[in-house]
Amino acid sequence: MSTNANPAYHLPNKMGRIIILGMEEILGTNGLNAVLNMSGLPGWSEGYPPDDMHMDFPFDELSKLQVALEKLYGPRGGHGVALRSGRAGFKFGLREFGEQLGVNEAGFRLLPMSEKLPQGAELFADLFNQFSDQRVRVEQSEAHILWHIERCPVCWGRQSQEPLCHLAVGLVQEALYWVSGGKFFIVEETACIARGDPACTIAIDRQPLD
Ligand SMILES: [Zn+2]
Repeated sequence: MSTNANPAYHLPNKMGRIIILGMEEILGTNGLNAVLNMSGLPGWSEGYPPDDMHMDFPFDELSKLQVALEKLYGPRGGHGVALRSGRAGFKFGLREFGEQLGVNEAGFRLLPMSEKLPQGAELFADLFNQFSDQRVRVEQSEAHILWHIERCPVCWGRQSQEPLCHLAVGLVQEALYWVSGGKFFIVEETACIARGDPACTIAIDRQPLD
């Protein structure tokens, strides 16, 4: 069942800010302003959502930003920008939440890869489940780690034939790159709520490319 009907879900401002900072890194300040204008969002007093944990960043706004990217850069270009801004956003996210997650500690960093990836996936899922209205369930299969976003802000309220959550794919890609110390993994969105699927599913190959 689609959960895209209820508009009252939010991310904390800090997560919204991280996403905006990631977009700015890819688009530059002028490009970011063009996207913000196109999205019709009200704008924030100092240009970004405040750096706090208040739940004031609506799912709907994140989804509108994705629509604005597609309008400005075309569907294909917009998806590329969303993917790259997700990758850029991870870095800001790590700075803000890394310590809390415990991923900088030796106990995590020294785990063998076979344990580190699934454990990292659970830690990052918990972060969303605990501090936002986004819901993530991690499923482990032999070949994949499946990151099921059961309530997803990226495609919120949208309908599409194709998966739309490129921003989330970019975040996951960069998280894997960082957790593995610089390896590339095949990451693909295989299901999307916007397409009528029950969740937005990001499938991660357990084995890196080499
Ligand atoms: Zn989605």
